[in-house]
Amino acid sequence: MGRIFSGIQPSGELHLGNYLGAVKNWVKMQHEHECFICIVDYHAITQPYEADMLEARTMQMAVGLLAAGIDPKRTVLFVQSHVPEHTELAWVFTTVTPVGELERMTQFKDKSRRQESVLAGILNYPVLQAADVLLYRADLVPVGEDQEQHIELMREIARKWNTRYAEGFFPEPQAKLTKAGRILGLDGEAKMSKSLGNTVGMLDNPDEIWQRLRPAVTDPARVKKTDPGTPELCNIYSLHGHFSSITEVEHVAAQCKSAGWGCIDCKRLVADNIAREFEPIRKRAAELTADPGEVRDILGDGAERARVVARDTISGVRKSMGFAPALSSSHPIP
Ligand code: SF4
Repeated sequence: MGRIFSGIQPSGELHLGNYLGAVKNWVKMQHEHECFICIVDYHAITQPYEADMLEARTMQMAVGLLAAGIDPKRTVLFVQSHVPEHTELAWVFTTVTPVGELERMTQFKDKSRRQESVLAGILNYPVLQAADVLLYRADLVPVGEDQEQHIELMREIARKWNTRYAEGFFPEPQAKLTKAGRILGLDGEAKMSKSLGNTVGMLDNPDEIWQRLRPAVTDPARVKKTDPGTPELCNIYSLHGHFSSITEVEHVAAQCKSAGWGCIDCKRLVADNIAREFEPIRKRAAELTADPGEVRDILGDGAERARVVARDTISGVRKSMGFAPALSSSHPIP
């Protein structure tokens, strides 16, 4: 039973891409592994954001995760900034990480290209990610392919620190690629993302789901209802693969190839299936939203459990690096 760490930004309500790409997998893995799931608010502030909305979005994210099936008895669910050891370890790691390694990260290049003045937080983002995972000495990190480079850097940081201070202290975490792969948005082009407005919200009601799916891009060859299509070229067909039965998927392919039905019929079926799968999640989310105290208690308990492990790691780090122990017993440093 390995230990897993995974993080998600407090972007508010979860969407279908988060669900298929990460959350559904976490719900399954919590029965097979020791899981730490973290709402990474320190990462969120590396991009422009609305400070007066951060708390609400953090709570919405927690509600979404719990409603989707993250079980706080099995998983340590917490907020990153509630465990200050994340930033302490990140600082330590900046002292063993070459700037050149950070500058060659694809995500850094993408983000910095779009900005006039590049902030150090964006450059150091992968260092904080390394601290997130290694603080819990996790073995496995479920990620999409776009994060593999960051996992490799994490391994390198662990190696460098271990070589310099304490051989074998940090494990070299392995990427656990998620089976769902890259979930495309309703535009059929870019990865599903809230900032691109190409998502279906997990807490949308059936009508909202239908309104989102109705204009979604399909196989461009199907201009008229009588034009046959190629389902493999259509993102709606991929969604059927996740939400419809095998018999329905076969039916969709046959109807598409023979122009036996129009895209609207096809979308209607998948919209109904999505709405059915999300229905219990939506109900549970409504209950949790009505009881924010329960959600805060869960996050508080999660942070306490996370800090037990985090303090132990930081204690080992401090000893290995030769820091002086705290002198005041009223303000002990772990
Ligand atoms: S019939 Fe379905 S699978 Fe075929 S192009 Fe239309 S929406 Fe896509």
